[in-house]
Amino acid sequence: MALRINPKLIDELEVYGAEDVSKCYHCGNCSAVCVHSSDPYVFPRRSMRNLQMGLEDKLKGGLEPWLCYYCGECSEQCPREAEPGETMMSLRRWLTSRYDWTGISRLFYRSWRWEVGAILLVGFLTALGFLLFGFSQGSITHYNGSNAFLPSSKIHVFDWTLAMLLLAVLLSNAARMWWYTVGRDRSVKVPMKSYITKAYLLPAHFITQMRYAKCARKTPWLTHLVLMLSYLTMLVLIMFFLSKMASGPKIDWYVHIFGYLATVGLVVGSVLFLRNRLRKSSAQYTHSHESDWLFLVLLLVVTLTGISQSILHHSGVDVAANIMYVVHLSVVVPMLALEVPFGKWSHLAYRPLAMYFADVRAEGLTRREPASVPSEGLRAA
Ligand code: SF4
Ligand code: SF4
Repeated sequence: MALRINPKLIDELEVYGAEDVSKCYHCGNCSAVCVHSSDPYVFPRRSMRNLQMGLEDKLKGGLEPWLCYYCGECSEQCPREAEPGETMMSLRRWLTSRYDWTGISRLFYRSWRWEVGAILLVGFLTALGFLLFGFSQGSITHYNGSNAFLPSSKIHVFDWTLAMLLLAVLLSNAARMWWYTVGRDRSVKVPMKSYITKAYLLPAHFITQMRYAKCARKTPWLTHLVLMLSYLTMLVLIMFFLSKMASGPKIDWYVHIFGYLATVGLVVGSVLFLRNRLRKSSAQYTHSHESDWLFLVLLLVVTLTGISQSILHHSGVDVAANIMYVVHLSVVVPMLALEVPFGKWSHLAYRPLAMYFADVRAEGLTRREPASVPSEGLRAA
């Protein structure tokens, strides 16, 4: 396959948050300190080199950016202050925009105005839609019962419809990711058995973030894990136990306790990450792209409006609880509909997929004829 050179690639990556990549003089310190860097996925020096050379297709087919957890060690050790950790982060954003066939992700990452504008527009339409729906079939003075303003049975149908749409977009983007990183390389023959036997890696990495735990600093992994498990718990509660969650005003502790624990995890996790970014407390928080702020702010607003709604509902103030429910949904819907498939939330899907693809691809590489293994490309640090 002919290599395509994009001489403007470094400039393009700067829009996605990369710092001065051209400073790198390839000493290899960064790859040496990275605990995740090992043959055949050696980084971040090789990604820096591919960027400097404008090797767009090589970068598009690389899984390395997803194997980096942005501990920041490499940036701290770089004698040229070329910020290799931030480069890996910007590559993840760039790759997300390449996997997405709709072009929305590219639009969002290149302009925060588009992203904020889209969130506001979808939020406004959501609020309008739910208000019209509520007034057309119920009473704003009722939170539960046959005359409820937003009955949980109807919201449940809406939730599942939205979830299926998001899943369809994510799966189509995941298929493109597979094609770029594994499928199109005809010299790598991955046996079907590898795809099946390695499938457990998907839930394992998704739930535990176990590779992150290998980084020297454990606190970011722990905070990330708490945030992730809280989000997952909330998702399960909403998708499968919404009617029990919405019941009341009496508290059903068997269900609500999980909601309260998840809420605490979401508040603590998002506040800690926001504080770290504001303080620039370590290398991985020194540079914050607009999408990093949006992700955390949206998560915090969703959680706080959810808490307010719950307090109002359990206090029996139905009118205020219904209004807060509409406000809550008008933040939840754009966060899920726009950020999950096109923004930073999509990393939740791409990262475990990358771990999975990396393992099956590595097995395919071992089956290559020795003469066809590009020694420099795969082995240089
Ligand atoms: S440590 Fe810095 S200069 Fe050395 S290879 Fe890595 S990015 Fe380049
Ligand atoms: S930020 Fe950490 S995990 Fe990522 S490449 Fe650098 S050392 Fe490796």
